[in-house]
Amino acid sequence: MSDDVQPVPAAPGSSPTVRLRQVLGRMPDYKPGKPATARPGLTPYKLSSNENPYGPLPSVLSTINEAAASVNRYPDMAVVELRERLGRALSVSADCIATGTGSVAVLAQIVQAACDAGDEVVFAWRSFEAYPIVTQLAGATPVMVGLDDQARHRLDAMADAVTERTRVVLVCTPNNPTGPSVHRAELDAFLDRVPSDVIVVIDEAYVEFVRDPESVRGLEVWRERPNVVVLRTFSKAFGLAGLRVGFAVAHRDVAAAIRKTATPFGVNSIAQAAAVASLDAFDELKERVESIVEERARVVQGLQDQGWKLPESDANFVWFPLGADSTAFAEACEEAGLMVRQYGDDGVRVTIGETEANTRLLEVAEAFGAR
Ligand code: PMP
Repeated sequence: MSDDVQPVPAAPGSSPTVRLRQVLGRMPDYKPGKPATARPGLTPYKLSSNENPYGPLPSVLSTINEAAASVNRYPDMAVVELRERLGRALSVSADCIATGTGSVAVLAQIVQAACDAGDEVVFAWRSFEAYPIVTQLAGATPVMVGLDDQARHRLDAMADAVTERTRVVLVCTPNNPTGPSVHRAELDAFLDRVPSDVIVVIDEAYVEFVRDPESVRGLEVWRERPNVVVLRTFSKAFGLAGLRVGFAVAHRDVAAAIRKTATPFGVNSIAQAAAVASLDAFDELKERVESIVEERARVVQGLQDQGWKLPESDANFVWFPLGADSTAFAEACEEAGLMVRQYGDDGVRVTIGETEANTRLLEVAEAFGAR
């Protein structure tokens, strides 16, 4: 810094004169998963954000490096290449695809496209914690319907909760943080009861990990129902969480509305190129997904052998519904160098991670004692 530059004035403190939206004071902050903290002699593992434990494929990394050379230019605002590549991969028209900076942003775009102040968004609870946040930020009202005792959606109760003010219903399958996926038959019965002017979002962030044969396949439902929108992400199975790309598949006019509410140039050029390269390398990525699914099976079997009774998981995490014991379990995990995600007194979610991390989870769970 040259000598003639004036020092920056001290940062101002609070600003009591500025009027901000009152809803912000009523909203929880989005809590990111805790980073892994190092303990002497113990490799720490971050199992708190449902990330993919594998780094980018060499082919994807070299695409990222190449794309970095052009960041003086704005990205393609219409995200044409990625939407067309996705369209080919999913056998849908690129017009039916809307992208955003992570599927959480696409979700916010959907709610903004559909809701005016006071409209209602129905979803299960517990579910993905961004749901109440994006709803309230749009000025809409969250209507939360409790899960059943197997930690599954109660779609009948969700249909009962639909009113004239309902504009969007969110169905999270598999459900984050509890794990079970929604079955096709129960979703069909639910959709038959929901008015066709209400958008039903099938949030399939974890779809690549689904192995339950009865599970919903969102795109099949989307092809049959004009009010269904499928939400997907490159953050989980594709391992691009840090680049922030997600997308929706929606009917043409709905997709156009979702694109309208996006931040201009939001999906950056490196992210667009990496997503295309990941679709090109999907066969390699599928092997990684398969090994995560195998690790899930090993962890679930190990926990069952210890006597744990947990909800089914069709995703890359397991849910320990521990009630008042949640804090003690989360502390035991952290003590062992495993960063996990505690949800108050509801339970603890643990991502399936590196083999060594999963083995350590089994050891912690055994020492804690099955419930
Ligand atoms: N939906 C669900 C169910 C999720 O669990 C997540 C990530 N935790 C998202 C959407 C958003 O993921 P991203 O914004 O990284 O695409």
